[in-house]
Amino acid sequence: MAQKIIDLRSDTITLPTPAMRRCMASAEVGDDVFGEDPTVNLLEARTAEILGKEAALFVPSGTMANQIAIRAHTEPGDEIAVEANAHIYYYECGSPAALAGVQCRLLNGQRGIFSAEDLLSALRPANLHFPPTRLVCLENTHNRGGGSVWPMAQISAVTQTARRHGLRTHLDGARLWNAAIASGNPEKAFARLFDSVSVCFSKGLGAPAGSALAGDAAWIQRARRFRKQFGGGMRQAGILAAGALHALDHHRERLAEDHAHAQQLAARLANCPGVELNPATVETNMVIFRCLQRPAAGLVERLQALGVRALAIGPDQIRLVTHLMVSSRDIQRAGDILVRVFKS
Ligand SMILES: *Cc1c(COP(=O)(O)O)cnc(C)c1O
Repeated sequence: MAQKIIDLRSDTITLPTPAMRRCMASAEVGDDVFGEDPTVNLLEARTAEILGKEAALFVPSGTMANQIAIRAHTEPGDEIAVEANAHIYYYECGSPAALAGVQCRLLNGQRGIFSAEDLLSALRPANLHFPPTRLVCLENTHNRGGGSVWPMAQISAVTQTARRHGLRTHLDGARLWNAAIASGNPEKAFARLFDSVSVCFSKGLGAPAGSALAGDAAWIQRARRFRKQFGGGMRQAGILAAGALHALDHHRERLAEDHAHAQQLAARLANCPGVELNPATVETNMVIFRCLQRPAAGLVERLQALGVRALAIGPDQIRLVTHLMVSSRDIQRAGDILVRVFKS
């Protein structure tokens, strides 16, 4: 019998479980643009509660959550400070420029994490020539940083500095759930340090689609208008919200398993020749490593032929992501295949 492909490209490939599908099939729905979808309203209230914010807004994607946030915090011609490898800058199609009309001032972080001094050095005095810097964005966990978790004290230092200089603060928390599990701090302990937070239901949590944006009630009202303007006003979206609600209740605690699986893969890879990886940098569900002897693209092809899918995220960089659809047995087998490829 052909063995199943173990897909470690991303936690976005997770499929709704049978229990989640049952919740979705029986969800009570209405027209959410009229504010009349009870399941969306429930999800927004529950998300706001988990994040300790006054209100939340359900949106189709994480990109839309972030870009609505940027638009709602700024006006065209403003500047935002963002780390050079941040999803907002790296993977969102130039949307800060295209949709909000802002320019990005890039900060250089270590695995996506920067300091209050880095932010300070990017700020300029008020001057007719300079675009006003309105917003700083952080990402936790940091995707291109390899799922790195921001230390709470460092977030605090950066957001206090931002506030002192009149900047608003946004957290791209697509994987905030992972940061919470890995650090032992509840999501709201991170969220309270920011004016706004985006979270994603369709990655490790396994819902088929959807993200949310949270903040204070008046600001979420403003964001709601931009959601409509960006084409994100959905009608009977309760079908999707029901999947997200199920995920919040059933798939957050289990992220610890994904983290343990990532550790197991990292420990085995770190011993392979031609692999540069420090297992101590694997904090959540991602393993990013350098391949020193062969191009990443070729290695990824070889792995796929043997039954493991991985993602080349650079000419010599490969990413593996553990998630809901990958069992402990799969991890054992994936580890065997990785070792085989790298030791050959
Ligand atoms: C995946 C991701 C997003 C949003 O992605 P969508 O595909 O638009 O839902 C945002 N931020 C980070 C850090 C992500 O990893």
